[in-house]
Amino acid sequence: MDKKPIRQQPVAEAAEEVVRAVKEILRRQAELGAAGIGREELERARRRVAPRAGARPNPAEALRQIHLDMGDCRRCPLHRGRTNIVFGDGDPYARLMFVGEGPGADEDAQGVPFVGRAGQKLNDIIEKGMKLKRSEVYIANVVKSRPPGNRDPQPDEIAACLPFLDRQIEVIHPEAIVALGTIAAQTLTGLDAPIGKLRGKWHEYKGIPLMPTYHPSYLVRLQGSRQEEAGRRAVWEDIQQVMEKLGLPVGSKT
Ligand code: SF4
Repeated sequence: MDKKPIRQQPVAEAAEEVVRAVKEILRRQAELGAAGIGREELERARRRVAPRAGARPNPAEALRQIHLDMGDCRRCPLHRGRTNIVFGDGDPYARLMFVGEGPGADEDAQGVPFVGRAGQKLNDIIEKGMKLKRSEVYIANVVKSRPPGNRDPQPDEIAACLPFLDRQIEVIHPEAIVALGTIAAQTLTGLDAPIGKLRGKWHEYKGIPLMPTYHPSYLVRLQGSRQEEAGRRAVWEDIQQVMEKLGLPVGSKT
């Protein structure tokens, strides 16, 4: 089937976005047990839909185009050891993006970000903590090919891959980004500080509020240790700030 040029947004696609946003409002209202649609929700939906109904390309189509442009990418040495490019996963219209460092073994095998033990932790944060569905957010990594032996990606590898993440962020245009772990936090803040110093405070990436927090794999490593509770508490505090920023109800995690 012929693909439509990404710069065109036919009326039917814009209408589809409006219907989708209204359905989302109704679903959330039903979950909250509230009657009718609140003004705040309508305003949020307007902001969510309005920019995309104009000149901006359709985010789903634009993401597909980025993926196509990436092709069988060999722009950096990481292509040699990968099984699959791990492009990203989630809602192209997401209000919230999570950005990790790079794929691990499970992600490399499946071509999907955050599907191993760390992925389960992230799912818990999204679903049990934030009361969202994983499919409502967008998840990506700084580098899209697995670094060998799960080593940190090198600066030249990050530099080669970052334009793809930049384009993903640009088309999704989330209301907030959560940077998971040192590499993502340092890359997106441009600061050298360790994650322990960067987390818990709002930064910005290209004008979008950015909250760094510990990588879920760090929480996995802490399991059973005396630091486990402190690590979980720190992440939950950071996530609560994100929920407040998005206007999500902040309650107890469990
Ligand atoms: S990490 Fe990024 S730039 Fe490097 S080969 Fe993979 S997709 Fe290409």
